[in-house]
Amino acid sequence: MQTSLAKAFLATPNGQQAEKILRACVHCGFCTATCPTYLLLGDERDGPRGRIYFIKQMLEGQPVSENSRIHLDRCLSCKSCETTCPSGVHYGQLLDIGRLELERRLPRPFLQRVFRVCLRAILPYPKRFSVLLRTGQYLRSLLPEDLHKQIPSHQQPGKLPQAQHDRRVILFPGCVQSVATPATSTIAARILDRMGISVIFPPSTGCCGAVDQHLSAPKQARARMRQNIDAWWPELEQGAEAVVVGASGCGAMLTEYGHLLADDPIYADKAKVVARKVRDLSQILEALPLEQLGINGHGRRVAFHTPCSLQHSLLLGGRVEKLLQRLNFSLAPIADSHLCCGSAGTYSILQKELSRQMLNNKINTLENNDAEVIATANIGCQLYLATAAHKPVVHWIELLEN
Ligand code: SF4
Ligand code: SF4
Repeated sequence: MQTSLAKAFLATPNGQQAEKILRACVHCGFCTATCPTYLLLGDERDGPRGRIYFIKQMLEGQPVSENSRIHLDRCLSCKSCETTCPSGVHYGQLLDIGRLELERRLPRPFLQRVFRVCLRAILPYPKRFSVLLRTGQYLRSLLPEDLHKQIPSHQQPGKLPQAQHDRRVILFPGCVQSVATPATSTIAARILDRMGISVIFPPSTGCCGAVDQHLSAPKQARARMRQNIDAWWPELEQGAEAVVVGASGCGAMLTEYGHLLADDPIYADKAKVVARKVRDLSQILEALPLEQLGINGHGRRVAFHTPCSLQHSLLLGGRVEKLLQRLNFSLAPIADSHLCCGSAGTYSILQKELSRQMLNNKINTLENNDAEVIATANIGCQLYLATAAHKPVVHWIELLEN
């Protein structure tokens, strides 16, 4: 695509990156067919090609309006368009640049800004989120019945094994996951321990930075990245093999550290190393002889929902399914498995109507079979699917506990 970005903008790292991405797009429109918002709304402005075109116009200096923001806000950042694109266009990176520039040129209305600040002040902080969740759980019986499912039930974390093995990995607990479904980490830790790998939780680990990054607060996101690198670096230097992540949304963010801190004079190199050490839980477990632990699904029928972050960001689609099949689980075929469930970080809070339509479509495909349980690999999807599902929704690691 031909571009003529504003000169001052072109002189910045974001400007150069945006131009490179825009030039890679040949405007073929293949990506449109796999974009969840285009499929629902049928409007080119709500598909990747339309959004790319809008971002290009904005970066070339054309006027922006609240109407342009509507179409950009409706994007899930699911990256389904990226895995479809034959030209390798890094749409997600362009979207981050576009959103940032739009915030600068056209600040949001006051109430929207306050709401976003509140989300950023709660979700990345386990203690604060825990207070909110426990209050909701305590008051649940007073709420109307249709709201009950919006609040996840309390989950016992279970016992963590002592770190005793030479082989060890850092286990990233995740802010929301560590509060809402703490058993995901403890079950993973117990299985790894039985396989001769200890897990460690470096104490000053914080949020991966995804909430800030996706709400156009890159400075705060970078501060969180640096904090995590500082927390993990001594462990990695002393031989921790990997940073293992049970929530693919966090994993997708952690693998971006190298790119997002590339211009940081102090952290750039360390960020690249950390990003290379990140492993989804499925990547660690698939390499281990789990059968020796007696883990066997005995043909249990499972409907697996592949999170967008797992398949479109980490490019690990099919891995969990393969592992479950290896362990004798039976997987129900799922139609349109490339499409988002509507959770998408804070999307289900900020774009309620659209995300609910996506959720209902997703539940229809996940429950249109004889599976007894729905499994997934990301806390956001897990909690959101559970608000509408008629079957239990679990993290897939829970299926492996015996
Ligand atoms: S992003 Fe890729 S698939 Fe979409 S219009 Fe551009 S080149 Fe085509
Ligand atoms: S990231 Fe998802 S919602 Fe956004 S344009 Fe791409 S496919 Fe559509």
